[in-house]
Amino acid sequence: MTDFIDFRSDTVTRPSAEMRSVMAAAEVGDDAYGDDPSVRALQERVADILGFDEAIFLPSGTQSNLCAILAHCQRGDEYLVGQMAHCYRWEGGGAAVLGSVQPQPLEHLADMTFDLGTIEAAIKPDDIHFARTRLLALENTIMGRVLPTDYIEAATALAADHDLSAHLDGARLFNAAVSLAGNGDPVAMAARIAGHFDSVSVCFSKGLGAPVGSALCGSSEFIRRARRIRKMLGGVMRQSGILAAAAEFALDRNIPRLAEDHRRARTLAEGISTIPGIKVGPIDTNIVTFSLLPETKLTAGEFIISLRDAGLLVSGAYDIRFVTHLGIDDSDIERAIELVTTCAHDLI
Ligand SMILES: *Cc1c(COP(=O)(O)O)cnc(C)c1O
Repeated sequence: MTDFIDFRSDTVTRPSAEMRSVMAAAEVGDDAYGDDPSVRALQERVADILGFDEAIFLPSGTQSNLCAILAHCQRGDEYLVGQMAHCYRWEGGGAAVLGSVQPQPLEHLADMTFDLGTIEAAIKPDDIHFARTRLLALENTIMGRVLPTDYIEAATALAADHDLSAHLDGARLFNAAVSLAGNGDPVAMAARIAGHFDSVSVCFSKGLGAPVGSALCGSSEFIRRARRIRKMLGGVMRQSGILAAAAEFALDRNIPRLAEDHRRARTLAEGISTIPGIKVGPIDTNIVTFSLLPETKLTAGEFIISLRDAGLLVSGAYDIRFVTHLGIDDSDIERAIELVTTCAHDLI
């Protein structure tokens, strides 16, 4: 994909030479026995910075969310989750398929929050007809949008009032934290957000730029259950310190630089916002979405193909989506604006 500018996702980054050298030098052991010092150090660090008793390192964010749902819920329970949330829509229905835990999807408001009344109405009474509602799952950022902190506080408090646990899919938690922190400390902001939840999953393989890996945080009791489930799901790795070292390097180097991805995404959004036929969505972090107006002559699928032929890779399951990441620089943004502008001549 060398000749393309790749905006499909922030997962497409490749480890730098420096990250690779840190990985090559990592001390390792067999993590199934808890022997890998690099994995242990990473788990302790993540638990510590986000304010939890413990964390476990997992191969993917999908598995981390699934472990969390199965550790919070029993067979026949349900979790409340957004219609567009990753752990409902984008994870193959794993909680239902593998855990017999049913999702109860909730409609999002325009800013991707839920109306609190909608959450409350979805919590089922204790009645033999109903699944037991056990968990509220939020996601931050969600489709690039940052959830307001007072909303998180209110939604998780509502969950607690009804004896539900609260899980955060924080695949891009640090993007939310960087956006909210401004000139403040993004790690402290991430901890503030995380503090409202019983469990939090974070990805190292997105904007942080590591090749593989996620961490799930929670109480010691919760992590003990999650450890057993991770084993059952085939997620225990062996000399995974090589991967943990990459994640540590990503935490050391790549949190504040997420602000650059956000700035570039904004420049891109502004650059294409005046193109006739295109409607750019709201932007908070590193994801720019746009849709084509009804009067345009191409479908979104056709437009994505014409962008690809011009050298731009984007994704488009729903809206057309550009994601900025550490492999995208200022000149890529300039070029992308030019190419979208050119391709859009065929729209009207
Ligand atoms: C990427 C992502 C995940 C997990 O993805 P994996 O590819 O399984 O690591 C989970 N939630 C959100 C919001 C994501 O963007």
